[in-house]
Amino acid sequence: MANVYYASAPDYTGETLTAALQKAFLPVAAEAGGIAGKRVMIKPNFLEWKGAEIPVCVDPALLLALCRLLKEQGAAVIAIIENPAVKSAPVIVEKMGIASQLAELGVEVENCAAYQFVDMPENSAFRRMEIACEYKEFDLVIDFAKAKTHAMMTLTLAVKNLFGLIRGSERLGWHLAVGRDFSRFADMLLDIYLLVKPHISLVDAVIAMEGNGPGSGTPVKLDFIACSTDAVALDASVAAKLGVNDLLTVQRAAERGVLGNFTECGDVPEVTAITLPDPPQLSLEWGVYFPVKLRKYLRKYMVSRPKVEVKRCVGCGVCAKMCPPQSLKIVNGKPVFKLNDCIRCFCCQEHCPAGAIVSEKTAFMRFADKFEKFIRKIVR
Ligand code: SF4
Ligand code: SF4
Repeated sequence: MANVYYASAPDYTGETLTAALQKAFLPVAAEAGGIAGKRVMIKPNFLEWKGAEIPVCVDPALLLALCRLLKEQGAAVIAIIENPAVKSAPVIVEKMGIASQLAELGVEVENCAAYQFVDMPENSAFRRMEIACEYKEFDLVIDFAKAKTHAMMTLTLAVKNLFGLIRGSERLGWHLAVGRDFSRFADMLLDIYLLVKPHISLVDAVIAMEGNGPGSGTPVKLDFIACSTDAVALDASVAAKLGVNDLLTVQRAAERGVLGNFTECGDVPEVTAITLPDPPQLSLEWGVYFPVKLRKYLRKYMVSRPKVEVKRCVGCGVCAKMCPPQSLKIVNGKPVFKLNDCIRCFCCQEHCPAGAIVSEKTAFMRFADKFEKFIRKIVR
């Protein structure tokens, strides 16, 4: 039985964060065998630094407070290792304004580099993966996630955060390989979790992201951190607190027997249903009764698609570079989508620095939504 610890943290000031970490993180560290004398690796979410007001990354003050606490508790080595989408991990901490404090604490900050092909554990859905293997060199691995919405997977929490251990170019390949089969994508994320098995998972939900996540959503103040030795239990618990009871990674974990029972301790927050992106795949649930061939054909009408908000687009071309099947091109400084080839992975949206790409329901989906509401009204 896993424990999920919560601590309230109404702001990112040092005192608040230290108290919150003592309440939620230290009991979990004790369950994980303690910190003293250990070599500790932190894998934070450093997708891209867009400034303190846009919560794309874990909060710098919380990261710093965590490193201070680890040092106080006698960690022998502390390393922050991550593979951000655009810049390097050292550049991100520089931009966050915490590079010198981390250096004073003796914290190493590195980009993932030790990529190896590894055979996956027996209960995995995939056989072999190329993954950054620095985690093998550490006694204690901390998976440090930001609570954010995600256009493809609804939320990104602790399990999804480990996808950052896959090489950037390979991440595009995975999107291409699994295409619109989001259950397979969830399986792949769970496989990475089962391989790495971080000792501690921590979620920063003091200020989370709602709406057009994970790169361009809006901040939502939730005032808590949560921590557990079990990332899947943590995700199941935190997702429910954000009003999401059908997170695909959690559903697949339950179906695969990876999600066990858990208890919630500490300052357990009330449920705050945040604004979610339109789920790309969940429209017209009775579509599952259609023949497979028809479903395949209907998909392009039943799955939300990326759309550019032309006024916000600065014409940087990042979306075209990040598109796994190269189904969008920059024409006259703006992206043009070839929707027949688009696999709806929303990498373009994730990486757009201007928040100019949104997901849009098709006319068929909008009609289906109305039709569904109408049917439910009469059959109630
Ligand atoms: S990444 Fe965003 S801002 Fe850059 S070209 Fe694409 S839509 Fe425009
Ligand atoms: S256009 Fe966007 S959503 Fe479509 S395949 Fe390319 S990156 Fe993915």
